[in-house]
Amino acid sequence: MSSEEKITKDDFLRLKKQKKALILAHNYQLGEIQDLADYLGDSLELAKVSREVEAELIVFCGVTFMAETAKILSPEKKVLLPVKEAGCPLADTISPSQLIKLKQDYPEAWVVSYVNTSAEIKALSDVCCTSANAVSVVKNIPVNQVIFVPDKNLGWWVKKNVPEKDIILWQGGCFVHEQFKESDVDISRKNYPNAEILVHPECNFKVLEKSDKILSTGGMVNWVKQSSAKTFVIGTEQGMIYRLGKENPEKTFYSLGMARLCRNMKMTTFTALYNCLKREEFEMNLEPEIMVSARVALERMVQYV
Ligand code: SF4
Repeated sequence: MSSEEKITKDDFLRLKKQKKALILAHNYQLGEIQDLADYLGDSLELAKVSREVEAELIVFCGVTFMAETAKILSPEKKVLLPVKEAGCPLADTISPSQLIKLKQDYPEAWVVSYVNTSAEIKALSDVCCTSANAVSVVKNIPVNQVIFVPDKNLGWWVKKNVPEKDIILWQGGCFVHEQFKESDVDISRKNYPNAEILVHPECNFKVLEKSDKILSTGGMVNWVKQSSAKTFVIGTEQGMIYRLGKENPEKTFYSLGMARLCRNMKMTTFTALYNCLKREEFEMNLEPEIMVSARVALERMVQYV
């Protein structure tokens, strides 16, 4: 096919079948990508899928740490990320040398790292967690002092729910979720008095305190399905509203204040996905020692929930 010819959805599906590829997409991806995915979910759900499904080739439509996690959990599979530059600024807030220093300062503490971290940070951690199980992991690990990285807002939420432990917080934050403000909650309450306000734990703690429910994106999907409410205000990246609206056409969804977009999540376009599959790039390749140590922290997470 020449580069001038327009690639159609049928072209993509033919290529996908020929390559026997599996497409995983995060809830924050563009609607056109969500519609093409074999599995749609949050980072933990997708990591589990990547480990359990029988597929030799996985295309992970998301950001780097997600494709890395899939590779760590399924080292025998070929895992591709459509856009090499699609990183996560939150994950980048902490470097391995900064974490090593912190570990030296608190030698008795366990490092609990949110899944939104690089493979190197996971390899230096004792256990990983997601936004869905962070409280449970910190509560159940057998130590009283914890270094929690990198998100300070999720860390605040954990601290509030596990007051009996000494939790040292890294001061990282997500530029998307930190844009939601307390006043957005107040205005939404006034505009949609019957709505439930659901927010992601990466939002500022003042927003978290004022909301009705603090949920991971996977948690939002499940909550909305069984709630008797008809209207919801959603405090997370805008891609989530596309999914919720599609799966619950009888319910109405509004963004908490202005729609907030993650530019890194939106880098994966249909063309980028097609080219990724055609050229089989960009492949996730990690140092074997990093893979082994990071896998221990990821597998351990399941023991403490
Ligand atoms: S929304 Fe925030 S945490 Fe998620 S990929 Fe974008 S920057 Fe990272």
